[in-house]
Amino acid sequence: MNLKTVCPLLLVALSPAFGAVAPNRQSDVIQTSKGPLKITPLYHGSVMLEFGGKIIHVDPWSNADYTGIPQADLIVITHSHADHMDPALLKTLRKESTILVSSPAVTDTLNGTVGDTDAISNGEKKTFMGIEIEAVPMYNLKLGSGPGKPFHHKGIGNGYIMTFGDTRVYFSGDTECTPEMKALKNISVAFVAMNPPRTMPATEAAACVDAFRPKIVYPYHYRGQNTQDFADGLKNTPGVEVRLRKLEGEP
Ligand SMILES: [Zn+2]
Repeated sequence: MNLKTVCPLLLVALSPAFGAVAPNRQSDVIQTSKGPLKITPLYHGSVMLEFGGKIIHVDPWSNADYTGIPQADLIVITHSHADHMDPALLKTLRKESTILVSSPAVTDTLNGTVGDTDAISNGEKKTFMGIEIEAVPMYNLKLGSGPGKPFHHKGIGNGYIMTFGDTRVYFSGDTECTPEMKALKNISVAFVAMNPPRTMPATEAAACVDAFRPKIVYPYHYRGQNTQDFADGLKNTPGVEVRLRKLEGEP
Protein backbone atom coordinates (compact mmCIF):
# COMPACT_ATOMS: atom_id res chain seq x y z
CA MET A 1 0.00 0.00 0.00
CA ASN A 2 1.54 3.30 -1.06
CA LEU A 3 0.50 6.28 0.98
CA LYS A 4 0.55 9.83 -0.16
CA THR A 5 -0.62 12.92 1.62
CA VAL A 6 -2.28 15.63 -0.42
CA CYS A 7 -1.24 19.13 0.51
CA PRO A 8 -4.34 20.79 1.98
CA LEU A 9 -3.57 24.14 0.33
CA LEU A 10 -3.26 22.47 -3.06
CA LEU A 11 -6.54 20.71 -2.43
CA VAL A 12 -8.28 23.99 -1.68
CA ALA A 13 -6.82 25.51 -4.81
CA LEU A 14 -7.82 22.62 -7.04
CA SER A 15 -11.25 21.77 -5.79
CA PRO A 16 -14.22 24.10 -5.96
CA ALA A 17 -15.90 21.76 -3.47
CA PHE A 18 -13.59 23.15 -0.80
CA GLY A 19 -14.17 26.87 -1.14
CA ALA A 20 -12.94 29.75 0.96
CA VAL A 21 -15.47 29.12 3.72
CA ALA A 22 -14.37 25.54 4.23
CA PRO A 23 -12.55 24.83 7.47
CA ASN A 24 -8.96 23.70 7.71
CA ARG A 25 -9.43 20.21 6.31
CA GLN A 26 -6.84 17.80 5.12
CA SER A 27 -7.40 14.92 2.74
CA ASP A 28 -5.21 11.86 2.43
CA VAL A 29 -5.00 9.58 -0.59
CA ILE A 30 -4.34 5.89 -0.09
CA GLN A 31 -3.48 3.69 -3.05
CA THR A 32 -5.60 0.54 -3.00
CA SER A 33 -5.40 -2.39 -5.42
CA LYS A 34 -8.47 -0.89 -7.13
CA GLY A 35 -7.33 2.71 -7.36
CA PRO A 36 -6.96 5.70 -5.08
CA LEU A 37 -9.09 6.17 -2.00
CA LYS A 38 -9.34 9.75 -0.82
CA ILE A 39 -10.17 10.26 2.84
CA THR A 40 -11.39 13.58 4.20
CA PRO A 41 -12.17 13.70 7.92
CA LEU A 42 -14.76 16.46 8.26
CA TYR A 43 -15.87 16.95 11.85
CA HIS A 44 -16.41 14.87 15.01
CA GLY A 45 -17.67 11.51 13.65
CA SER A 46 -18.24 12.73 10.08
CA VAL A 47 -15.89 11.54 7.34
CA MET A 48 -16.06 11.68 3.54
CA LEU A 49 -14.49 9.05 1.27
CA GLU A 50 -14.02 9.25 -2.48
CA PHE A 51 -13.39 6.08 -4.45
CA GLY A 52 -13.91 5.14 -8.09
CA GLY A 53 -15.77 8.39 -8.75
CA LYS A 54 -18.19 7.74 -5.90
CA ILE A 55 -18.76 9.90 -2.83
CA ILE A 56 -19.28 8.14 0.49
CA HIS A 57 -20.39 9.95 3.64
CA VAL A 58 -19.98 8.41 7.08
CA ASP A 59 -22.26 9.77 9.82
CA PRO A 60 -22.77 13.19 8.22
CA TRP A 61 -23.73 15.77 10.86
CA SER A 62 -24.75 19.34 10.12
CA ASN A 63 -22.57 20.75 12.89
CA ALA A 64 -19.88 20.31 10.26
CA ASP A 65 -19.78 22.85 7.46
CA TYR A 66 -21.11 20.99 4.42
CA THR A 67 -20.96 24.04 2.19
CA GLY A 68 -19.61 22.88 -1.15
CA ILE A 69 -19.34 19.25 -0.06
CA PRO A 70 -20.66 16.93 -2.79
CA GLN A 71 -23.79 14.84 -2.41
CA ALA A 72 -23.42 11.18 -1.58
CA ASP A 73 -23.59 8.06 -3.69
CA LEU A 74 -23.41 6.01 -0.51
CA ILE A 75 -24.10 7.00 3.10
CA VAL A 76 -23.40 4.84 6.14
CA ILE A 77 -24.88 5.58 9.56
CA THR A 78 -23.57 3.96 12.73
CA HIS A 79 -26.40 4.74 15.15
CA SER A 80 -29.27 7.07 15.85
CA HIS A 81 -27.73 9.64 18.22
CA ALA A 82 -27.97 13.20 16.91
CA ASP A 83 -24.26 13.56 16.15
CA HIS A 84 -24.44 10.53 13.82
CA MET A 85 -27.94 10.48 12.34
CA ASP A 86 -29.07 13.88 11.07
CA PRO A 87 -32.27 13.44 9.02
CA ALA A 88 -32.31 17.01 7.65
CA LEU A 89 -28.75 16.71 6.34
CA LEU A 90 -29.42 13.22 5.00
CA LYS A 91 -32.15 14.69 2.81
CA THR A 92 -29.74 17.32 1.51
CA LEU A 93 -26.92 14.89 0.82
CA ARG A 94 -29.10 12.31 -0.88
CA LYS A 95 -29.66 12.00 -4.59
CA GLU A 96 -32.33 9.75 -6.00
CA SER A 97 -29.76 7.02 -6.56
CA THR A 98 -28.03 7.30 -3.17
CA ILE A 99 -27.77 4.13 -1.11
CA LEU A 100 -28.10 4.58 2.65
CA VAL A 101 -26.74 1.77 4.84
CA SER A 102 -27.49 1.63 8.54
CA SER A 103 -28.26 -0.62 11.47
CA PRO A 104 -31.85 -1.95 11.70
CA ALA A 105 -32.49 0.40 14.65
CA VAL A 106 -31.54 3.42 12.54
CA THR A 107 -33.74 2.16 9.72
CA ASP A 108 -36.65 1.86 12.15
CA THR A 109 -36.02 5.33 13.56
CA LEU A 110 -35.82 6.97 10.15
CA ASN A 111 -38.91 5.02 9.13
CA GLY A 112 -38.67 5.99 5.47
CA THR A 113 -38.54 9.74 6.17
CA VAL A 114 -35.31 10.20 4.21
CA GLY A 115 -36.00 7.54 1.59
CA ASP A 116 -35.06 3.87 1.41
CA THR A 117 -32.41 2.44 3.67
CA ASP A 118 -30.52 -0.86 3.59
CA ALA A 119 -30.15 -2.33 7.05
CA ILE A 120 -27.29 -4.59 8.07
CA SER A 121 -26.92 -6.17 11.49
CA ASN A 122 -23.84 -6.75 13.66
CA GLY A 123 -21.64 -9.37 12.02
CA GLU A 124 -23.36 -9.18 8.64
CA LYS A 125 -21.57 -8.34 5.36
CA LYS A 126 -23.18 -6.92 2.25
CA THR A 127 -21.79 -5.41 -0.93
CA PHE A 128 -22.99 -2.05 -2.25
CA MET A 129 -21.59 -0.46 -5.43
CA GLY A 130 -18.83 -3.08 -5.39
CA ILE A 131 -17.77 -2.12 -1.85
CA GLU A 132 -18.13 -4.79 0.80
CA ILE A 133 -19.45 -3.42 4.06
CA GLU A 134 -19.24 -5.42 7.28
CA ALA A 135 -21.13 -4.36 10.39
CA VAL A 136 -19.02 -4.62 13.56
CA PRO A 137 -20.70 -4.37 16.97
CA MET A 138 -20.29 -1.01 18.77
CA TYR A 139 -21.40 -0.76 22.37
CA ASN A 140 -20.52 0.15 25.93
CA LEU A 141 -18.99 -2.39 28.26
CA LYS A 142 -19.28 -0.30 31.43
CA LEU A 143 -20.20 3.31 30.60
CA GLY A 144 -23.85 4.23 31.04
CA SER A 145 -26.38 6.20 33.01
CA GLY A 146 -26.68 3.43 35.62
CA PRO A 147 -26.34 -0.31 36.11
CA GLY A 148 -27.73 -2.09 33.07
CA LYS A 149 -28.19 1.23 31.24
CA PRO A 150 -25.34 1.55 28.74
CA PHE A 151 -25.24 4.65 26.57
CA HIS A 152 -24.95 2.35 23.56
CA HIS A 153 -26.64 -1.06 23.77
CA LYS A 154 -25.04 -3.99 21.98
CA GLY A 155 -26.82 -4.75 18.72
CA ILE A 156 -28.32 -1.27 18.25
CA GLY A 157 -25.45 0.35 16.38
CA ASN A 158 -22.84 -0.69 13.84
CA GLY A 159 -19.20 0.08 13.41
CA TYR A 160 -18.22 -0.63 9.82
CA ILE A 161 -15.40 -2.15 7.83
CA MET A 162 -15.48 -1.04 4.20
CA THR A 163 -13.30 -2.93 1.74
CA PHE A 164 -11.72 -1.14 -1.22
CA GLY A 165 -9.72 -3.73 -3.14
CA ASP A 166 -7.00 -4.80 -0.70
CA THR A 167 -7.67 -1.94 1.70
CA ARG A 168 -9.96 -2.33 4.69
CA VAL A 169 -11.18 0.84 6.38
CA TYR A 170 -12.77 0.61 9.84
CA PHE A 171 -15.04 3.15 11.54
CA SER A 172 -15.51 2.27 15.19
CA GLY A 173 -18.67 4.26 15.90
CA ASP A 174 -19.33 5.01 19.57
CA THR A 175 -17.85 2.08 21.40
CA GLU A 176 -15.60 0.95 24.17
CA CYS A 177 -12.83 -1.57 23.63
CA THR A 178 -14.99 -4.58 22.91
CA PRO A 179 -13.68 -8.11 22.30
CA GLU A 180 -14.87 -7.77 18.69
CA MET A 181 -12.79 -4.63 18.22
CA LYS A 182 -9.68 -6.16 19.75
CA ALA A 183 -10.05 -9.17 17.46
CA LEU A 184 -10.14 -7.16 14.20
CA LYS A 185 -7.66 -8.34 11.59
CA ASN A 186 -5.98 -6.78 8.57
CA ILE A 187 -7.28 -3.24 9.06
CA SER A 188 -5.51 -0.77 6.78
CA VAL A 189 -7.08 2.42 8.14
CA ALA A 190 -9.04 2.84 11.37
CA PHE A 191 -11.11 5.70 12.72
CA VAL A 192 -11.44 5.26 16.48
CA ALA A 193 -13.80 7.24 18.72
CA MET A 194 -12.79 8.56 22.14
CA ASN A 195 -15.21 10.80 23.98
CA PRO A 196 -15.89 10.10 27.67
CA PRO A 197 -18.26 9.60 29.31
CA ARG A 198 -20.02 7.97 26.36
CA THR A 199 -17.06 6.28 24.71
CA MET A 200 -13.64 5.33 25.99
CA PRO A 201 -10.90 7.83 26.96
CA ALA A 202 -7.92 8.41 24.66
CA THR A 203 -5.52 6.25 26.67
CA GLU A 204 -7.91 3.29 26.63
CA ALA A 205 -8.49 3.77 22.90
CA ALA A 206 -4.73 3.60 22.36
CA ALA A 207 -4.53 0.32 24.30
CA CYS A 208 -7.36 -1.05 22.18
CA VAL A 209 -5.66 -0.03 18.93
CA ASP A 210 -2.51 -1.73 20.19
CA ALA A 211 -4.54 -4.96 20.22
CA PHE A 212 -5.60 -4.89 16.55
CA ARG A 213 -2.85 -2.76 15.04
CA PRO A 214 -4.23 -1.02 11.98
CA LYS A 215 -1.58 0.35 9.61
CA ILE A 216 -3.00 3.88 9.97
CA VAL A 217 -5.26 5.21 12.71
CA TYR A 218 -7.12 8.49 12.99
CA PRO A 219 -8.63 9.51 16.31
CA TYR A 220 -12.09 10.91 15.60
CA HIS A 221 -15.13 11.81 17.71
CA TYR A 222 -12.59 12.94 20.32
CA ARG A 223 -14.24 15.99 21.88
CA GLY A 224 -12.66 16.88 25.21
CA GLN A 225 -9.78 14.45 24.74
CA ASN A 226 -6.16 15.24 24.05
CA THR A 227 -5.36 13.27 20.91
CA GLN A 228 -1.67 13.56 21.71
CA ASP A 229 -2.34 11.25 24.70
CA PHE A 230 -3.68 8.75 22.17
CA ALA A 231 -0.62 9.15 19.95
CA ASP A 232 1.71 8.85 22.96
CA GLY A 233 -0.07 5.66 24.00
CA LEU A 234 0.89 4.10 20.67
CA LYS A 235 4.43 5.38 20.29
CA ASN A 236 5.93 2.02 21.25
CA THR A 237 3.55 0.04 19.04
CA PRO A 238 5.30 -1.01 15.83
CA GLY A 239 3.59 -0.68 12.46
CA VAL A 240 0.83 1.75 13.49
CA GLU A 241 0.89 5.28 12.09
CA VAL A 242 -1.22 7.78 14.05
CA ARG A 243 -2.68 10.65 12.04
CA LEU A 244 -3.93 13.59 14.07
CA ARG A 245 -6.47 15.83 12.37
CA LYS A 246 -8.41 18.82 13.60
CA LEU A 247 -11.95 17.48 13.78
CA GLU A 248 -13.51 19.52 16.55
CA GLY A 249 -14.20 23.19 17.01
CA GLU A 250 -14.09 24.20 13.37
CA PRO A 251 -13.43 26.31 11.46
ZN1 LIG B 1 -21.43 10.17 19.18
